[in-house]
Amino acid sequence: MRRNLKTLLKYILISSVTVVFTVLFYRIFKTREYLKDNAVFIGAQNIGIEPLAPQEIILVDNEKIDWHDYGQIKRDLKRTGRGEQGKPEYLSDKENQEYDALYKVNGFNAALSDKIAIDRAVPDIRHKGCQTKKYLKNLPTVSVIVPFHNEHWTTLLRTAASVVNRSPPHLLKEVILVDDFSSKPFSKKPLDDYLAANLTKVRAIHLPERSGLIRARIAGAKAATAEILIFLDSHTEANINWLPPLLEPIAQDYKTCVCPFIDVIQYETFEYRAQDEGARGAFDWEFFYKRLPLLPEDLQHPTEPFKSPVMAGGLFAISTKFFWELGGYDEGLDIWGGEQYELSFKIWQCGGQMYDAPCSRVGHIYRKYAPFPNPGKGDFVGRNYRRVAEVWMDEYAQYLYMRRPHYKNLDPGNLTKQREIRERLQCKPFKWFMENIAFDLPLKYPPVEPGDFGVGEIRNLAAPELCVDSGFKDRDQVIAVAPCISDSKNKLKGEQNFTLTWHKDLRVKGKSICLDVSDPNDKADVTLYPCHGSKGNQYWKYDVEKQWFLHGGNPRCLDCDPGQKRLFVRSCDENSKTQKWRFENVNLTMIADWENIGIK
Ligand code: UDP
Ligand code: MN
Repeated sequence: MRRNLKTLLKYILISSVTVVFTVLFYRIFKTREYLKDNAVFIGAQNIGIEPLAPQEIILVDNEKIDWHDYGQIKRDLKRTGRGEQGKPEYLSDKENQEYDALYKVNGFNAALSDKIAIDRAVPDIRHKGCQTKKYLKNLPTVSVIVPFHNEHWTTLLRTAASVVNRSPPHLLKEVILVDDFSSKPFSKKPLDDYLAANLTKVRAIHLPERSGLIRARIAGAKAATAEILIFLDSHTEANINWLPPLLEPIAQDYKTCVCPFIDVIQYETFEYRAQDEGARGAFDWEFFYKRLPLLPEDLQHPTEPFKSPVMAGGLFAISTKFFWELGGYDEGLDIWGGEQYELSFKIWQCGGQMYDAPCSRVGHIYRKYAPFPNPGKGDFVGRNYRRVAEVWMDEYAQYLYMRRPHYKNLDPGNLTKQREIRERLQCKPFKWFMENIAFDLPLKYPPVEPGDFGVGEIRNLAAPELCVDSGFKDRDQVIAVAPCISDSKNKLKGEQNFTLTWHKDLRVKGKSICLDVSDPNDKADVTLYPCHGSKGNQYWKYDVEKQWFLHGGNPRCLDCDPGQKRLFVRSCDENSKTQKWRFENVNLTMIADWENIGIK
């Protein structure tokens, strides 16, 4: 009896311990699973269940892995042939027959494209640090959307193939080619058949009328079923491991849009190369797309995504949820133009953020020229710009209108829906965007262009009969000093009128050619070169007190040899009289404000 009781007690103990452990285990397991599925999107702190010990959550939530597909990388490295590894390629004389006809309708060397494999290898030109970078193990799924209007068939297929081959299969749900009413025969059944036979993740949808790039992207987004939308142009090539760097920032915060680095596929040779080491997207007040330099903190972390005020346009990733919260694109934007500004302003002003990811690279064919006929819709770009300006730019819209007064007469159409979005999402004013995100834009692209710091002849003090003279010369030619023409009664010939502009360059008046010094040595020549308005070789400052023209960031002074009539720069010397110049008309107020005007 006692023995039985003991056994019974033992059983009860064992089974209750088992039950307790099972319950505990199940709970931990379920929470882990839940975190796995959801933490990526909503963040561990928002999931509304009792959290595990912090280190457990971090382990699951932030687990990072190496996403490289080494099999694919190895196969790519072994490829040889025409245009492989992104090497420049050429047509033989015999092949040249198709060159002109195909060039004309595409604006690039489409005949050459046909000789290069659809699945060619491209060079891995990422920053070295990208090769060892790990990304979250849990990443969302992707629909890639590629609108196209009369894209050449091999560049279109190469876009699709590069995406399929260089994306982790379980992340890539689909590629949707949106045929914007193309007239090339391949765009219809032959394309559908090719995709069904060769690229099963890729499908085409055919729009019944020409809708333009913006509405074609919207149509693709409506058909998409994945958590992330990635938009690409129809003549692009995705590079190694392009996807995880685009997805991770969105996984961490769904109100994020991420752009890849856009590489150059050369329109003539299909060579694949970088365009630069990255820059922040911007615009001038005619709405030309411009770029701003990276910030010091961006330069310190060359593989980390950096904030960018506006996207270049065609290539970006955004969560489906955020895209539709923002109302997608404004459907009133016609054909193309302004949509990159509309979406960028909306993202920033309505609580989102935008990044460029240096470790994600996609090549793009920048055409030699746009081959498409005007769709006969008048100034649709102007109308688009007006829509964007009216809805998003508040008082800053006037700076566009100042330069393009006729925009004021264009009918932007109905803006009610767009204004409702701005109201509903309580989006911030454009001023906030300009002051916090594009804060350095006005220095390079001032809304109202300042006048000149000074204008007129530049006369030497040691030899007051001599003036700087550009002598009607041209790029790369050395200039000198010559007798001042304003003194002469017999009308000497010369070119002695200069402007010190807000770009802080010294221009031959009325021309866009600038005084330039590229030689770092003492007594370096002054030459002429087309103005490029940046620091360095063309930077000049006038010191009113000392009467010096200081050149460059490491200043040397404009100087001359009156005997030889040579003009040069050399290290500044307080006692030198040949370094002193009288500048005919100087705007003293502007010069006093030197630091706050143009580039610093
Ligand atoms: N596109 C379109 N419909 C249009 C104009 C353009 O679907 O009415 C597509 C085009 O095929 C390309 C993308 O939109 O995939 C961007 O256009 P494009 O490449 O001509 O612009 P670019 O890169 O030259 O600025
Ligand atoms: Mn393009």
